[in-house]
This record gives sequence, C-alpha cells and structure tokens, in this order.
Amino acid sequence: MPNSPIAPGTPYEGKAKILTPTATPGIWQIFFKDDATAFNAQKRGEIRGKGEINCTISSHLFQFLEHQGIPTHFVRQTAPNCMEVHALTMFALEVVVRNRAAGSLCRETGLPLGLELAPPLVEFYYKNDALGDPLLTPDRLRLLNLATPQQVQTLTEMAQQINGHLCRFFAECGILLIDFKLEFGWNDHGQVILADEISPDTCRLWLAGESDPVQRVVDKDRFRHDLGGVESAYQLVLERVLRR
Ligand code: ADP
Ligand code: UDP
Repeated sequence: MPNSPIAPGTPYEGKAKILTPTATPGIWQIFFKDDATAFNAQKRGEIRGKGEINCTISSHLFQFLEHQGIPTHFVRQTAPNCMEVHALTMFALEVVVRNRAAGSLCRETGLPLGLELAPPLVEFYYKNDALGDPLLTPDRLRLLNLATPQQVQTLTEMAQQINGHLCRFFAECGILLIDFKLEFGWNDHGQVILADEISPDTCRLWLAGESDPVQRVVDKDRFRHDLGGVESAYQLVLERVLRR
C-alpha cells in the first residue's frame, strides 16, 4: 500500500479543520475552522464565518458530485461548520486541476495569468508541509510509492471527471473555475474516494464577465494577496452555490 499521512481512527488537527472519530465506527466528524493560512502557513489569519461557509459549500458540492456518480467521503452536514464523513486512509497527494494559468503555474513557467489550458492540466503534488508540497514528476511519484500506477490512473481520471462536473456547476453560478486542489483516500475495500473539502480555500474562482483582475477574484487569493473583501467574496460564492 502507498505511504499515508494519517491512519484512520486518530484525531487530527490541521490548519483549517479538526477531525475526530464519532461513536459510529468508520465515521469521523470534520469541524471547519475560521483559521486561514497561505504560503505554506507563513501567512496566518482568520476569515470570519469561513468555517460555516466552506463546510456548507463543500457539503453541497459533494452531494452534487455523488449525484454525478463520483464516490465522496460525505455522509451528512451536522451543523453549519461540521460534516460527518467516511474515515479514509489518505494519499499523501494534492491533485491539482488547472483550466487556466494562475498561481504557481504562472510563477514557475512565465505563462500569462488566465491563459486557457486545453486540455486542462492534472498535476500531483507531494502533501508534505516540511518539504513545501513539491510538484511531483511521474518518476518521483513512483519512487516515493505515493500511489500505484493504477491508482495514479484512477486519480487522474476522477480528477478530470470532477473538473467537468464542477466547471459546469460553477458556470451555472456565473463563476469560472480557474484551478482547484483535490484530496483522495481509500476505504477498507481499496476503493478510491474523493475527500477533504472543495471551497474558495481550495479553488480559484473568478466572476464570469468581470475583466477587472482584482474585482473578479472570489477565492482565497483575496486573503493571500491582501485584496480586501475576503468575507464578502466567500459569502457571494456560498449564495450562488445555494441558489443554483
Ligand atoms: P492540513 O492537514 O493540510 O493542515 P486541514 O486542516 O484541512 O489541512 O486538515 C484536514 C486533514 O484531514 C487533511 O490532512 C486531509 O488529508 C484529511 N482528511 C480529509 N478528509 C479525510 C477523510 N475522509 N479521512 C481521513 N482524513 C481526511
Ligand atoms: N491549493 C490548495 N492547497 C494547497 C495548494 C494549492 O488548496 O496546499 C489550491 C489553490 O487554492 C489553487 C490550486 O490549488 O486553487 C493551485 O494552487 P497553486 O499550485 O497555483 O499554488 P498557489 O500559488 O496557490 O500557492
């Protein structure tokens, strides 16, 4: 089996969420915090109401994806900022899908911000804070035994399918899905399942039809780059997701 950062059953406090086992075996509660971090936790802050907003958006998107046939860890939302999920053994991977150039892709390649990428890029990063979550080549992925070749293929195909569904979903909200990060785990049957969260913390989202490079941003880049209006941007995404 591939390397894994946390074994099922162990309480865990991360940068944005707290995971605790519930009385039901195999079911964990995830509490979404208002804490915000960026640049590998070098920048820290709080976004008021973020926990509730991200939990509600994630719950909504997981249910939408389940309806599209994507297996997710979602069981139910138990409070505005709490979700019950199936406990999984996680891949130590961040799977990033990019529809347009932004963030590290622009910084590291010089590609212009917003360049359309067809087909979308699917990239694997090593989920390892101490190493700064480096981008992996296929050979390094294999070397580190972070997933089997078959699992890498499954993860790639699932990420592509999820991207198709989410692009359509957000387009119906008047929002462009620029890029996003997914995390996956596997259950006792070895089935690969979408986990963690999908929210303005983990997606780049731009208002469709808005050309102003600051006004159009409705995601964590407002926090990362001190653009102001962080809470109202998250609130806007929530309202559009719920209204769709
Ligand atoms: P980080 O660990 O990067 O600080 P978070 O604060 O978001 O991030 O912590 C959530 C942790 O929970 C992550 O390590 C993530 O991989 C893990 N996780 C998410 N969903 C599940 C799940 N269903 N089962 C087990 N672990 C999960
Ligand atoms: N992302 C994330 N968690 C991470 C790293 C990236 O949710 O630890 C998301 C980020 O919000 C963006 C996408 O993954 O939507 C691609 O991020 P990128 O590689 O451009 O890194 P960044 O420049 O955002 O640090």
